[in-house]
Amino acid sequence: MAKDRSYEFTGRKKHSFGRGSRWCKRCGDYTAVIQKYKLFLCRRCFREVAESLGFKKNM
Ligand SMILES: [Zn+2]
Repeated sequence: MAKDRSYEFTGRKKHSFGRGSRWCKRCGDYTAVIQKYKLFLCRRCFREVAESLGFKKNM
């Protein structure tokens, strides 16, 4: 149930997949959320944190 906690917390409409099913845990953006590596960050935030996480450009 921990996975559904955020839905109840935000009151957002529930989506099981597709756009709106995930959002950036850093800024809350719905678009271009990267689920890879279990980051759950939008690409903008990913860019900001990627360096600190050890990711390099043009992987
Ligand atoms: Zn973000």
